[in-house]
Parts: sequence; structure tokens; C-alpha cells
Amino acid sequence: MNNKFDVIVVGAGNGGLMAAATTAKEGLKTLLLEKHNLPGGCATSFRRGRFEFEPSLHELCSVGTKENPSQIYKLFDDLGVKINWEYEDKVFRTIVKGDDGYDVTLKAGIENFIKSIDDAVPGSEKSVREFLGLNKKIRAALDYLASVKGVPNVFKILTQHSDFLRVASHSVEEVMDSLSMPKKAQNIINTYWGYLGVPTDELNAMHFLSMIHSYIVEGAAMPHHRSHELSVALVDIFEKFGGQIKYNSEVTKFLYTEDGRVIGVVANGEEFFADEVISNVIPDNVFNMSDETKIPKRQMKLANAREFGISVATIYVGLDCTAEELGIEDYTIFIQNNADPRTQYNTRKTEGFYIVNCLNNTIPDSSPDGTCTLFFTLPIFGSDLPEDLTPQGYKKYKNDLAEKFIKDCEEVLNISIIPHIEEISVATPVTFARYLGTPEGTIYGYKNSGWDNVVLRTTFEALDYKIPGLSFCGGHYTNGDGYSSAYTVGSIVAKRVVERLKGGNA
Ligand SMILES: Cc1cc2nc3c(=O)[nH]c(=O)nc-3n(C[C@H](O)[C@H](O)[C@H](O)COP(=O)(O)OP(=O)(O)OC[C@H]3O[C@@H](n4cnc5c(N)ncnc54)[C@H](O)[C@@H]3O)c2cc1C
Repeated sequence: MNNKFDVIVVGAGNGGLMAAATTAKEGLKTLLLEKHNLPGGCATSFRRGRFEFEPSLHELCSVGTKENPSQIYKLFDDLGVKINWEYEDKVFRTIVKGDDGYDVTLKAGIENFIKSIDDAVPGSEKSVREFLGLNKKIRAALDYLASVKGVPNVFKILTQHSDFLRVASHSVEEVMDSLSMPKKAQNIINTYWGYLGVPTDELNAMHFLSMIHSYIVEGAAMPHHRSHELSVALVDIFEKFGGQIKYNSEVTKFLYTEDGRVIGVVANGEEFFADEVISNVIPDNVFNMSDETKIPKRQMKLANAREFGISVATIYVGLDCTAEELGIEDYTIFIQNNADPRTQYNTRKTEGFYIVNCLNNTIPDSSPDGTCTLFFTLPIFGSDLPEDLTPQGYKKYKNDLAEKFIKDCEEVLNISIIPHIEEISVATPVTFARYLGTPEGTIYGYKNSGWDNVVLRTTFEALDYKIPGLSFCGGHYTNGDGYSSAYTVGSIVAKRVVERLKGGNA
């Protein structure tokens, strides 16, 4: 049968591409179905005039270098994929407006990072060092949890990973307070909440620590040719391994046996069958494309109980002057109205918090000579859009958003952007909902918070995902959002599939 495969992967986003390349590398006959005419999902690029914009990636964490590779470098290397990685020596610049505000630049590498905070908040070094040091203990516990098939051994966790338990159920700010970290130092570090979409009085401390570590110790990087380079490289290697990718192939139905095993999917009216299906598509959508009676009660309840993660509004600007002429020296600048992350979160719709990236400061030739680009990111939820927004009013909504934040940025950085704008494009959660197909335009799957945090997701994975023949991968899965998480779970899930199909001979 031409339409029978060992593995079908639905969706060619980061998780799906990594999963498909991994199963194909192991010799499994793999079909990758993607609804768009190009791969990548969030990891892509688009053109306006003479500019090619990066639509999503600010920084990819856990990359490392050739000499000192981290998880992501190794994943690509193991597949034989070469990426032109570019590095930044600063983590970010964070500006809080107002009389008691600050303007602090944090450097990459753990010692530089601690020193930049201590320079801004003298006397904070000890507590910051202690806080960051917790990560090592947590990593050991998470490695143990990830290695367990089934339910973990509680006695082992209690005796060998007690620090993990002390931190596991607490928020970032609770842990920082317990270490007597000065509030200003907390606020500076907690600028990072924007990368996870959950404020730090709510965000799980372990998840946050692990993320900081992956940026400042394991090393963040950018592909030279934007995230599109990553996606194209993965498709190339997938095809070299014999994999087949079908674009313009939106999956509309998941096929089950009588006793609830997934055996295939339907795309463009055609049925495709496989021993295993891996979905890069969020469970809510998969269940909507399934016979409801086949979904185990626990899994359906879980999907219904979860909150969707944050989305973003983004403004992409192409300017007819260089970054130097514009007066921007940094790659990543966070601009905030207030130092407190909860206040930033609560006022996110109006003025609370946004990120400005100037890619030319990391990759000078990322736009034509004599030009530069800016990329504004505002973390908002799909449900934040005005309730009375009409199709006619949508253009005005986008224009107002762009004008407000560009003007604010001009004022804060004391630069002139508007007279130099040659191209501009604005995206909102509506754009991401349409492009990715995610509910409410979530770019992070589910909100990583409360009972649905990364620790509990990992712990209960085996109980929460029980449909035979169907695995999930992507930002919505156990490890949470972001490029590195999506690639990592794509690889892990695919290796499990390989093991099941090849009987441990992988
Ligand atoms: C503006 C923005 C900024 C971001 N910044 C960063 C950052 O700096 N660092 C970072 O690590 N992360 C960042 N992220 C988040 C990151 O991009 C995502 O978490 C990650 O890429 C999600 O990957 P995924 O595997 O879940 O796939 P997705 O990107 O969600 O892709 C899913 C794929 O499935 C396809 N698909 C959907 N439905 C179907 C169907 N029915 N049939 C076939 N195909 C289907 C889609 O077309 C898409 O190709 C950002 C995201 C955005 C939008």
C-alpha cells in the first residue's frame, strides 16, 4: 500500500520536524503532513519589500558552541545538520521607566550575569548565586524523572532529590524571598517572565531556573539565516533519510480502531495509515478531529481543564538607516512601565511590557546595506483582544498598536524611528491562530502554571497521554513552550516510537 507508513507526523513545526527527522534517520518509513506550503510553523521567515523578517525567534537557548555543545547543538549535530550559529555576549538590556526605574544590561555566562546584577544592586551577589545554584540539583531530579518509564519512585525523590521537593511547589518569587534576594535584583532577573508568559509570583521556580540556565550557561544563539534556516535544514535531512513530506496537506481527521488505537489520518480527503502517529498539533485540535468516544476520560478532562498559553502581538519594521544611525546598540531590550512582573502582566494590554529586537546587532547583514530591522513583541493572550473588535476595525487596531509602541520606544530610547520606516507589518493573536491553527493563537500551547506546570506534566506524562498509537510533541507538550523544548520533546518522543517499532534495536 502506498499510503501505509511506519510513522506519520502531523505538522512540520519545530517538534514535528525534529520527530520526523529522528524516525526517518532510524530507517522508519515516515510521512510528514503539513498544512502550509512551507515548513517550520513559528520557525520560518517572511518578506516585505527588500526585507526578510524573522517572525518569532528572539534567541534559541541550550545551543552552546562547537567546543562546548549543549542539547540543541547536539540534537542537530546527531542528525548531521550544520547550522550557522551566531552568538550574543549580552543576555538582555532591561529598562524600567519612571523615577525609581532602572536601565541594566545583563551579560551572558554565569559569572558575568551575577556580576551585572551585583553592579546594579550591590550586595545581591550571594542570594543570586544561591538561587542560580539550585538549578544543578533540580536538573538531577528532572533527569531522573525523564528517565522513568511509568510512575516515579517517591522514596527515591524524597531521599535523593530533597532540594527539588523544597523548590518544586514554589513560585519564583517565593524562592527568591526565602533567599533574601533584594527586590530590585529579583525584578531584574524576573524580566525573563516575558519569555514564558507567566508572571514570577505564579511561575514555578524550577521551570524558571531551568530556563535561565539554558540561556546564560548553556548558551543562546541565532541561526544566521533566521529560524527558516533551521526548518529548511531539518526538511533536507529528513528527505535525505528517505522521509516524505507533503505540503498543503491539512489533516482533518484522526482514524481509530474499534478499541481506540490510532491507525492513521485523513488529509485532503485521502487516508494515510501508520503503526504510530506523532502529532505536532495541540491535543484540543486532535480531539476535535477524532471520534470523541475514543478519547480516554482522563485525557479529555485534562484538555478541557487546561488554560491556553500566551500569544503575542508583534510589529516588524524595516528601516532605511543602519542600527548605528538609528542609535540602537543592543540586540534585545525589554521596556517596562513598572518594575513588578505582576503589574507588568496585569497591564500587558496597554503599556506594561514589550521587547524590542534589532537583529543587525547580532547579525549585521540580516538586512540590506544601509538598513536595519526592528522586531517588537508584546505578550498578550488571544482573549485580550477587544471584545467589540470587528473585521473592519481590525486594521485600525493593528495600526494603533504599532503607533503606540513605536512612539513609546522612540521616547524611551530617545531615537527617531517613524521617519525611517520603509516597511511595516503587524501580527496579533489572530494572525497566529490562523497561521498555526492554535486555539486563541497560543504560541506556547498551554499556560505553564499552577497544577499544569512542567514538573507535574513530566511526572504524570504516562497517565495523561494514553491513546495507543498516538504521541504528541511540540510547545504544548510536557517540557513547555519554546524552540528548544519543542525540538527536545520531538526527539524524545520519536526515539520512544523507534524503540516500540524496532523492539529496542534503535
Ligand atoms: C512572535 C513569537 C516569538 C517567539 N519567540 C521565541 C523565542 O525567542 N525563543 C523560543 O524558544 N521560542 C519562541 N517562540 C515560541 C516558539 O516559536 C514555539 O513555542 C515553538 O516554535 C512551537 O513549536 P511547535 O513544535 O509546537 O510547532 P508550531 O510552530 O506550533 O507548528 C505546528 C505546525 O503544525 C502545522 N499544523 C497545524 N495544524 C495542522 C493540521 N491539522 N494538519 C497539518 N499541519 C498542521 C502548522 O502549520 C505548523 O507548521 C516565539 C513564538 C512567536 C510566535
